[in-house]
Amino acid sequence: MGSLNLPTEQWAQVVEKVGGPATYKRIPVQQPGPDEVLINVKYSGVCHTDLHAMMGDWPLDTKPLPLVGGHEGAGVVVARGSLVTDIELGDLAGIKWLNGSCLSCSYCQNSDESLCKKALLSGYTVDGTFQEYAIAKAAHVARIPKGTNLEAVAPILCAGITVYKGIKESLVRPGQTIAIVGAGGGLGSIAIQYAKAMGIHAIAIDAGDEKRDLCLKLGATTFIDFTKSKDIVADVKAATPDGEGPYGALLVAVQEKPFQQATCYLRSKGVLVCIGLPANANLSAPVFDTVVRMINIKGSYVGNRADTAEALDFFARGLINVPYKSIGLSQLQSVYDLMHEAKIAGRYVVDTSK
Ligand code: NAD
Ligand code: ZN
Repeated sequence: MGSLNLPTEQWAQVVEKVGGPATYKRIPVQQPGPDEVLINVKYSGVCHTDLHAMMGDWPLDTKPLPLVGGHEGAGVVVARGSLVTDIELGDLAGIKWLNGSCLSCSYCQNSDESLCKKALLSGYTVDGTFQEYAIAKAAHVARIPKGTNLEAVAPILCAGITVYKGIKESLVRPGQTIAIVGAGGGLGSIAIQYAKAMGIHAIAIDAGDEKRDLCLKLGATTFIDFTKSKDIVADVKAATPDGEGPYGALLVAVQEKPFQQATCYLRSKGVLVCIGLPANANLSAPVFDTVVRMINIKGSYVGNRADTAEALDFFARGLINVPYKSIGLSQLQSVYDLMHEAKIAGRYVVDTSK
């Protein structure tokens, strides 16, 4: 194994019981296995998934507690296993949700790595990026160009990849309109910019003046406040040029209701892309309308390694300016508290050195 000078202990945020809170404490630095790298995580974005993981919201087990959350970690490679040859010590790299996958099952062969049954999930089935030093499979770490602002790029590693892939899954084309539901949050605010960069008009749906101002500043064509609208379906349709509704809807909200509404305002042949993962939620749609209006309903789950490279390339070209607020890793619990109340416009990024 090759490595730079490494400490034996580090600061981390550790979930010790379901429901939290996360505890800021010293824990040992782990060594990477033969096909892994150790990354000195400088910054990590805080995704709503990290809160779901701590709360035990989902019908998917985490690793046995204690768990270190986090899966938007940008940093520097400081150690690599003996089999790793294509990334150097000192290179910038990112740890994303997909920490690793088998690379040989039928899903991996078809580049659907997120569907791999043996996928390792950062901050969920393996310890993640809310620590100073985190491990990932070398084949899966995101390659980040030298000179990149690591704080600004961190949220691309989950939010960016996920919404970029989701917009591609929507099949919405340049010149057409997409509805982004949950547009003022972490995924949504970044989705507005990918849509804009792809030549797509965005109707942003969320609540409150802070999120309205942010969405419009980021390039949304229209903002609809779901807490004030008396008829969401009519308002969304009215925001499209022919009144027929958007060609696609990207659902990144953490509530069930907007998932139920979306098929009603999509234009015929429209595509509903489900991304948000509200706890215990179900999706239902009128069969008659879904058939005679040829509505498509699909899920989209992060992205593969090519989606990662492409999402990072949009960032490198200056097309995506992540709206983030900075805070020390020691303050993570306060971010979860705000997130729980849907009070975060954009993303929080934690600095692991504070
Ligand atoms: P976030 O808390 O930053 O944003 C969620 C937003 O939804 C908030 O701004 C909130 O005000 C808004 N919202 C709530 N109810 C709404 C409604 N009825 N209509 C419109 N907006 C509404 O969360 P985030 O970090 O952006 O994550 C969003 C969801 O996506 C989470 O459930 C997360 O686990 C999931 N996620 C999925 C994937 C994937 O691959 N599918 C990847 C990352 C995150
Ligand atoms: Zn995430």
